[in-house]
Amino acid sequence: MDKRIYLCLAHMSGKEQDFIREAFDTNWVVPLGPNVNAFEEDLKHFVGQNKEVVALSAGTAAIHLGLIQLGVGTGDEVICQSFTFCASANPVAYQGATPVFIDSEEDTWNMDPALLEEAIKDRITKTGKKPKAILPVHLYGMPARIDEICAIASKYDIPVLEDAAEALGSEFKGQKCGTFGTFGVLSFNGNKMITTSGGGALIVPDEAAKKQTMFYATQAREPFPHYQHEKIGYNYRMSNICAGIGRGQMTVLEDHIAHHRHVHNLYAKAFEGVEGITLKSNPDDRFNANYWLSTILIDPEKTGTNYDEVRVQLDAKGIETRPLWKPMHLQPVYANNPRYVNGVSERLFNMGLCIPAGPWVTDEDVAYIVEQIKACLRK
Ligand SMILES: *Cc1c(COP(=O)(O)O)cnc(C)c1O
Repeated sequence: MDKRIYLCLAHMSGKEQDFIREAFDTNWVVPLGPNVNAFEEDLKHFVGQNKEVVALSAGTAAIHLGLIQLGVGTGDEVICQSFTFCASANPVAYQGATPVFIDSEEDTWNMDPALLEEAIKDRITKTGKKPKAILPVHLYGMPARIDEICAIASKYDIPVLEDAAEALGSEFKGQKCGTFGTFGVLSFNGNKMITTSGGGALIVPDEAAKKQTMFYATQAREPFPHYQHEKIGYNYRMSNICAGIGRGQMTVLEDHIAHHRHVHNLYAKAFEGVEGITLKSNPDDRFNANYWLSTILIDPEKTGTNYDEVRVQLDAKGIETRPLWKPMHLQPVYANNPRYVNGVSERLFNMGLCIPAGPWVTDEDVAYIVEQIKACLRK
């Protein structure tokens, strides 16, 4: 095969350039404007639950502004899923607060509710105060056990900031991920479910929270004719050009999600009965993952190979794969952070691979990928 198959390449609808041209024609080449407003409307309509949405420069910025509005500051602790991309945890550190890492449970690979409760109790005992926020992640688009997590959060009266950066369109009991917590985070980086070339959004509870998020995203400028500042703000608003791309992408979002699920179904059929390869799938019918990336576990004992050998072999065959996220509690930068660990995410990290699932991956590609993975197995 001479073409390379990538995990999740950006895919345009064709309408993106019309929205961008309109922005140029009307000279809205700034970090606000009609595309930003319309993109926010589209997202608000998509996620439902009467939420408001603020378009920002990145998902990381959205997490940061969520934490700020939850009052997270120096000396605070935030309970954070360990099995994730660093962008979930880093904004906690930006605030001078400490991420406390929670391991995963087997069914969703996301925050283990039992460990979460154990951690809350233990932090209160050890520090004399409650963690400021709980930050679960819907990793690879698989919904976390968000009902249990929210129930524990409300039992201890701690707000939830949901990282749905990989989970645009994923649902738990028919409700969109990102709408369960006080705040929810979306990402439109280059390889996410949709892209604005780079961007993100904060899902917020109401119009007042939307205003406040926009305030912090535009340098916390007070309503005076001159530039008056009473708080520290950020330059985090989305550009009207990027939002034009986002509006175009919203016209194909449902198609993208359907395609990711279709690819997952093809993998599910193809890997059926293959000893030692387990495709991650919805644990039961309350979960409806967007399958942003399909993920497999490779059992070394049953296959006679391992995830890294498979990765290298597939790379030589023109197939991009990627190890699963390395848990934050194993990252040198977070070596000294408190952690509540059961070994699940470390084990997953040592046997898992992300395999291609994006809009450019065809049925033939899936067949080729599966064939090449099977060719790696030595048992
Ligand atoms: C991509 C991602 C983010 C950050 O989004 P950016 O738009 O890249 O800043 C946060 N959390 C997770 C889990 C992600 O995958």
